[in-house]
Order: sequence, then C-alpha cells, then structure tokens
Amino acid sequence: MEKIIIKELLSRYGKYMHRNVEVSGWVRAFRSQRFISLSDGSTPHNLQVVVDPESFSQEIIRNIKIAVSLKIVGEVVESPGAGQSVEIVAKSIEILGDHFSDELEKTVLQPKKHSLETLRVQAHLRFRTQLFGAIFRVRSALSFAIHEFFRKNNFFYIHTPIITGVDAEGAGEMFGVTHFDLRSVPLGPEGAVDYERDFFGTKTSLTVSGQLEAETAAMGLGRVYTFGPTFRAENSNTTRHLAEFWMVEPEVAFNTLEDNIDLAEAFLKYCISYVLEHCREDLELLDKRFLDDQKAKPEKDRAKEGLMEKLENVVKKRFVRVSYTEAIGILLRSKENKKGKFQFPIDSWGMDLQSEHERYLVEKHFECPVVLFDYPKDIKAFYMRLNEDDRTVAAMDVLFPGIGEIIGGSQREERYEVLRAKMKEIGMEEKELWWYLDTRKFGSVPHSGFGLGLERLVLFVTGMTNIRDVIPFPRTPKSAGF
Ligand code: ATP
Ligand code: MN
Repeated sequence: MEKIIIKELLSRYGKYMHRNVEVSGWVRAFRSQRFISLSDGSTPHNLQVVVDPESFSQEIIRNIKIAVSLKIVGEVVESPGAGQSVEIVAKSIEILGDHFSDELEKTVLQPKKHSLETLRVQAHLRFRTQLFGAIFRVRSALSFAIHEFFRKNNFFYIHTPIITGVDAEGAGEMFGVTHFDLRSVPLGPEGAVDYERDFFGTKTSLTVSGQLEAETAAMGLGRVYTFGPTFRAENSNTTRHLAEFWMVEPEVAFNTLEDNIDLAEAFLKYCISYVLEHCREDLELLDKRFLDDQKAKPEKDRAKEGLMEKLENVVKKRFVRVSYTEAIGILLRSKENKKGKFQFPIDSWGMDLQSEHERYLVEKHFECPVVLFDYPKDIKAFYMRLNEDDRTVAAMDVLFPGIGEIIGGSQREERYEVLRAKMKEIGMEEKELWWYLDTRKFGSVPHSGFGLGLERLVLFVTGMTNIRDVIPFPRTPKSAGF
C-alpha cells in the first residue's frame, strides 16, 4: 500500500486516481457521520475522507471526533462536492492513539476562535492549528530560501560557536554560562568570581552574534554566512524582541558599505519572492487573517494594502537609501515632531533613533523600505568603519514597514591602528580580542556584513504582529516553560 502525505495527494491527484492509498492525520471535523476533514500538517488544506457508516462498526464511527488520530486506507476518487477536486473513500480506518475527549475543551484544539495569547500558553499544541501550521511552514520555507540564496551566490555556510569567551561582542547584554555550583562560587583575592576555576577557565556567555568569528572566516573563504541561534539578555518586553532568536549573518571580504546594502536588498527580495512562489496557499490563509485583523482596528490604523500586495510591492520597489543625517533632518521638520507626537522627541544630530522614528520614516514619509546609513560613531558598535568625516561610521540599517529595523550591518573597520584606538577609547581589553585584531595584521581587507533576525522577517512575511507567534518556543523574560 502506498503511504502518502496529503500535500502530495492533493497536488498530484491524477497520478493516484482510483488507486488505494494510505494516509494518516488528525480529524479537523466530522460532518453528518460521513465526511472527515483530515489534516496531516503537510499543507493548509484538509483531505476529505468519505465514510460509509454501513461499512464500519459503531465503535469506530462513535470514536471519530475532533483531534483523533487516524490511519486510513481508501480509494482516491473525484469529489462530487464543492471545495475539493478529490477525496478518499475509506476502506479501513484505524484509530492510532489515545484521545482524552473530556480534556479537549480545555485546549486550543477545541474548534473555536482562540486568542493568540491563549495559543501562546499552549505553544506545544499550536502546531495543530491552521494558523500556526501556516506560520511554521512559512518559517521553514524562509530558512531554506536563505540557504538557497547564499548557495547560489557562492557563499560558504560557517558554524560559529554558541558559547563564547568574548565578553563584549558588541551587540547586547549576554547570558552567562557557568558550571559552578551556584551555592558556592569560588572567589578570587578581591572578592571577584574566579573564572579560572570554571569549566572553560574563563568567563563565558551565550553568543549575541557570530559576526566576529564570521569575519575571521571571511578573511580566508571570502564570502561566508552564519545562521544560528543568538541570545540577548535584554529585558525588553516588546513585540519585536526575543531572548533567543535565529540570526543570519553574511560577511563578505572586499565588500564596501554600498555593496553591503545591495546584498541586503537582493537577499530580502529573494527570500520574499521565494515564499510568494512556494507558500502561496499558506500566504492566502495568512492574508485572510491579516484582513480580519485590520478590520478590528480603527480606520486610521489600518494597513493600506493586503498581505500579499505588501509582499509583492516590497519585491518590486527599490529600497530608498538615506543617510542618518538626512533622516534626522526629515524627522526634525516632521509635523509629528513639531507637535510633540513622538514619545522621544528629536532635538539634535547624534541621537539614536527609536522604533517610532524608524516607523515614521518607513510608513509615513517614504512609504517603502528604507535603508539608513552613515550613523554617528558614538551610537554604533566599535567594529564599524570610521568615515572620513571622523564623526560617522559606515553603518546601515534596513527598516521595514510594521517592523522597524529588520537588518543591521556595516562595513567593518579593517585598519589595525584605527580599530585598536577605538577599542582603547571605549575601554575594551586588547588581550581578549587579540585574535580579532590579528585578522587586521596579515593582509587586512575592506569587508562588510550584516545581521538579520529571522523572526523579524517571518513577522513581516506572515503579517503577524507579535514575535512570540513566529517562533515555536519563544524565550522571553520570565518565560521558558517549554
Ligand atoms: P533593535 O534596535 O531592534 O533592538 P539591534 O540594533 O539590537 O536591534 P542588531 O544588534 O543590529 O540589532 O542585530 C541584528 C538584527 O537582529 C536586527 O536587525 C534584528 O533583525 C535582529 N534582532 C536584534 N535583537 C533581537 C531580539 N532581541 N529579538 C529578535 N531579533 C533581534
Ligand atoms: Mn537590540
């Protein structure tokens, strides 16, 4: 007996017509004691299974309920009903596993509308819902699109470490990693923790970015990227921050800032085109949810375009590129700023931009993705290349509608003395980053790279609004239950 998944059957039913096949899945609905809607997660669509009550025991029929798992063997036939072109006439039905019917109503599997908050509390069951099925299929497709983009462009995939001995990777607050018994942490002479006696013999943390290591790889392999989990102990309870997220970080030898922006734009467009092509059905479902979501909002806050339209437009339009200095000018002159509408008013050059400013530029002023570049050196990381004006660095952020910053990157400081002076200025230990400085000694070259938080891209593509809903098991302050 041929064992197939529902996606395969629905997309190539000609091949299976009038043959017997085996499908397994979960019951989404059972109508008139006759029609089962079966889902196996492979596609947003259900398979209709027709059951002739005469041919099966009452015992079986009585136990076909929502969320029950079934293995079905049956004949593929054309469907007379509307809504599907093919269905299966069941010849044998086997109930596969336990089913605590009386507990079902306490779960999100109960067929009714559940809030996203409720779904989050039952993250282990979210996969069974239509919405989260779509989100996680899209997330998976995006991950593959990312690898495919880099492979097509001759990048090498580098695995950078998750545990790092670098105290300041320059990207955020770190989680410590220790093997000490926390009830008796060994202390040194001045009362400081004696990390020499810890597992690694030095203070270690979870990485906030693989960039520094990726840079060393780019200095030999040319074009590389990392794609792995990163951790930030930022206590920011926002809809755009996680304590554990997946970051994509390309690093390219010989690339200037402009090359870097070109790469970021081509990369984002590739990934979005990929899902438009490969996840059409999931996007249609998400588009519908997006629309319903918009309807619930006051008129003025509603998105101007549907989800699909939004994605198509981002692929079509050229991203606007403006310097930080121009952007500050635009913000200073904006009605919002003059009327005191910003929570953080803009008053001078040199200020860091908040998400409200980024979103003003993208959503109100330019109405398309915006790349900001050449930021003041004092608000950016130590490794960014100092510009000739001596007050800005070759940094760039890509800002997306509804999201704000989706990518942050820069041309890196490749000049040994300039980098060393910068580290000294901000009190960074040279002996800790000796290996990083070393790459500037032996054939140093201009190079650039950026970081994309996968979850921010999934947020944008799915039209969801809370980052906790686009990662299977979100890690946020006070929450790591499963
Ligand atoms: P933000 O200002 O939004 O906190 P950042 O400037 O700290 O971001 P970078 O250090 O430049 O971000 O990291 C690169 C990318 O990683 C960001 O553009 C974003 O897509 C993603 N990112 C950063 N922090 C988080 C987080 N806590 N959760 C999810 N994604 C994140
Ligand atoms: Mn941050």
